[in-house]
Amino acid sequence: MDPDSPDVVWTRTRVLIIGRASPEPSKKHIETVCTGGITESGELLRLYPIPLRYLEQEKRYKQWSWAEFEIQKSPSDKRKESYVVRQESIKVLGHVDSETERYHLLSKGIVPDREILDAMRERDRTSIGLIEIEVQDLVARPRRKEWAKEKPYTKQTHLYVEKKPLEQPSIELQIKFRCKNNSACKTHQCSLIGWEYTEGLRSFIIKYGSLDGAFMRLREALTNRYLDRSKRTFALMGTHFKYPSWMVAQLYAFSRDIPPRLF
Ligand SMILES: [Zn+2]
Repeated sequence: MDPDSPDVVWTRTRVLIIGRASPEPSKKHIETVCTGGITESGELLRLYPIPLRYLEQEKRYKQWSWAEFEIQKSPSDKRKESYVVRQESIKVLGHVDSETERYHLLSKGIVPDREILDAMRERDRTSIGLIEIEVQDLVARPRRKEWAKEKPYTKQTHLYVEKKPLEQPSIELQIKFRCKNNSACKTHQCSLIGWEYTEGLRSFIIKYGSLDGAFMRLREALTNRYLDRSKRTFALMGTHFKYPSWMVAQLYAFSRDIPPRLF
């Protein structure tokens, strides 16, 4: 598909950025970041391929940025929320700083629990969802380093662009949690793929010199933030491109004192 062909119809849409997965190597775009967004009406979208670290500075949206994108339904990705973005169209409009406003915007897309998300996936291929959870633990799993074998271009230099370091993490972070609103929930364990967490692990490895030490520090930081019982914790879940399994892209902790939305 040629994105500049006159036959391709792009729709301009405004979304709040609510999650960014770790960058993945890409043959065409060097690397891409799969991004989760929510519209003002509460529709959840998956946006890609976006080489976020290689975009011009003013296009590099952050978590909680409002941004505008020209999008169209992905022809190759059957997940119903997946949209292809026209890179040149990205415009960062602003940033939401208020915790109350963040919660109110996010709450339009929240469903009660993972079990309901499973039913929605079966019914209409829902592949993104927000749920309230109780975090139990952060777990490290050894991972097979498949990039070197499956994505040989990862190591290649680029003719026109100075490539930024992108190493495949040697462990997979997983989060163990229960659904807050379902007393019958039997605990879930999912990959934690948010960029913030893999980047945290990477910087802790540099700081503490060992993978074990780095993981322990990350576990401590994340459990302090998300096991705080004075807060309500939510998770942005998304399914894998190839498999129906759910992954966690972003965690949120909100004060219990936020009043309900009035509009
Ligand atoms: Zn559950």
